[in-house]
Amino acid sequence: MLVELTKVMLQDGNTCQQAVNLNLKNIEVFGEHFPVTVSAPAELMITNSGKGILVIEVRADVQVMIPCARCLEEVKYDFALDTTRKVDMKLSAEEMDEAEEEYNFIEKNQLNVDKLVQNELLVNWPIRVLCKEDCKGICSRCGANLNHGDCGCDREALDPRMAAIQDIFSKFKEV
Ligand SMILES: [Zn+2]
Ligand SMILES: [Zn+2]
Repeated sequence: MLVELTKVMLQDGNTCQQAVNLNLKNIEVFGEHFPVTVSAPAELMITNSGKGILVIEVRADVQVMIPCARCLEEVKYDFALDTTRKVDMKLSAEEMDEAEEEYNFIEKNQLNVDKLVQNELLVNWPIRVLCKEDCKGICSRCGANLNHGDCGCDREALDPRMAAIQDIFSKFKEV
C-alpha cells in the first residue's frame, strides 16, 4: 500500500501514524517465491525531523511458508519486524538509486509500505529453517520423509565416500 508523504513533509515536527494493510501474497528470495500466509496490518509512524529528513518506523508481523532444509516440508516461519529508516527526501530519484542504502520503497512523495516490509524480510531471512531440530531429512534413495518412519532402503551403499573406498579395494584386486 502507498502512503502519501506530502502532508507530513509540509512542516518540521509533523507526524503521521497509521495502521497499514499489507498486500504481500508472496516474497521472492534469490529467484524463489515463498507464500506469505499471514500478515497483520503494519504499524507505521512517520516523523518529519526537519531539513527534509523523514524517520519511518514500521512494526509488522508476517508469516511465511519456508521449506525445511532437510525434509522440504513447509514450515510456518514468523517474522516480527521492527525497523526504523531515515530518509533524506532532498535526495533526487537518481541519488536514491545510487545510494548504498536501499530506498526503493520511496516512490516520489509516497511510501510503498509493502516494499519496505519486503526489504526487511530479506534482511532478516533465516540462513536455514528446520521443521524440528532433529529432523531426519529425506531418504537419498527413494525420497521418503524419514520423519514418518524408515523406508527400509539400504542407504549405506549409495554413500559416495563408501563407493570410493570400494573402488580402491577393487583396484587392489586387479593388481
Ligand atoms: Zn524437516
Ligand atoms: Zn528410502
